[in-house]
Amino acid sequence: MSESSAESVSSNIIWDIARYVIVAVAAGFLIWYSFFYTPTVYVNREHAGKTMGTDYIVKVARFPENGDWKKIADEIQSTLEALDQMMSTYQSDSEVCRFNASASTEDWFSVSPETASVVQTALEISQLTEGAFDITVAPLVRHWGFGAEGNSLRTKSFEVLKSEAATLKEQTGYEKLSVQQEPPALKKAIPELTIDFSAIAKGFAVDCIAELLEKHKVADYLIEVGGEVRSKGKKSPDMDWRVGIENPLSEQFSSVQHKLDLKNQSLATSGSYRQGLQIEGRRVSHVIDPRTGLPAQIEHNANELVSAAVVAPNCTHADAWATAMFVLGEQKGIELANQHGLAVLFLLSNGDEIIEVPSKHWGE
Ligand code: FAD
Repeated sequence: MSESSAESVSSNIIWDIARYVIVAVAAGFLIWYSFFYTPTVYVNREHAGKTMGTDYIVKVARFPENGDWKKIADEIQSTLEALDQMMSTYQSDSEVCRFNASASTEDWFSVSPETASVVQTALEISQLTEGAFDITVAPLVRHWGFGAEGNSLRTKSFEVLKSEAATLKEQTGYEKLSVQQEPPALKKAIPELTIDFSAIAKGFAVDCIAELLEKHKVADYLIEVGGEVRSKGKKSPDMDWRVGIENPLSEQFSSVQHKLDLKNQSLATSGSYRQGLQIEGRRVSHVIDPRTGLPAQIEHNANELVSAAVVAPNCTHADAWATAMFVLGEQKGIELANQHGLAVLFLLSNGDEIIEVPSKHWGE
């Protein structure tokens, strides 16, 4: 048998073998696909509840149907309970309340890494806003009738409250608060110093839940705690997570003034329209200007600032910046927002009309 015919015989054999292998593989795949392959079915899941004196909801899209959502929901609930126990001014045995009750100015007061991290961020934003945001504002919050032990104001005139606030201001000041991360601890420079996380802890809680979901490989979610929101991925293959900024003038909670698609970002709003009091015809909001000791926006021109909304990469910053922007007001706020590349939307009311004032980066 000549060499070339021998070569063609062996290549025919190889080709025959290859054909059998391909058929066998194809058959194997078909059997696996028909009898053993079960496609992962994706579903939407939700978990809602109460925390920090408000409501929360977690929406997840494209969650594997056979995934253990109950386990994740339980983890979310226990995480929020733990954070509440650390940061609440409404629970006398919380870390924050125990620190507030401590009069020591010598010793570092041990806290959890979470509490130390929130204080760190709070102090950074206090510096950037020259004290417009200040978690040591707690005595003034109580003085103006808000927070866990809000004073009853009924008997006092605005002038009396104003002058008392001037005295109380001496018990505040972010410069009088120190934090360290290793080991996590806080120290106060004056015994009376007290802190209040109401303007930052809900945002932090949202970020903690986001971390938890990502640990469980969840890539499409929307988290909301008391109006502070964070999203990742999409609601469905062709739909982003759409959220709304409330119309402050509307009595209905659900009335939306401004809609936006939140793409892997966080949104937080601060304003006077949901928590406020009337004192001698003045609208007093629960947001206080620590620099004056007075409720924010108490003196306003024709157009009253009613809310400030901030979009930021994480919810801790969005929450704190929203409060800071409401204190600063739209003029100073826009200046600082453009300086720091912040996306802010101010809503002003002129009678029953709402005026939107966006910063340069809003909508980017
Ligand atoms: P934001 O504008 O986000 O924050 C305003 C709040 O921050 C004010 O209420 C005041 O406390 C504080 N603040 C005011 N001015 C400043 C400033 N310039 N700088 C920094 N902070 C300022 N409420 C209940 O009724 N029951 C509860 O059990 C309860 N538990 C809570 C537990 C935790 C851990 C937290 C953080 C809050 C809790 N709250 C509770 C408070 C409730 O959630 C508040 O209504 C809410 O935090 C106010 O948020 P907001 O978005 O309306 O206002």
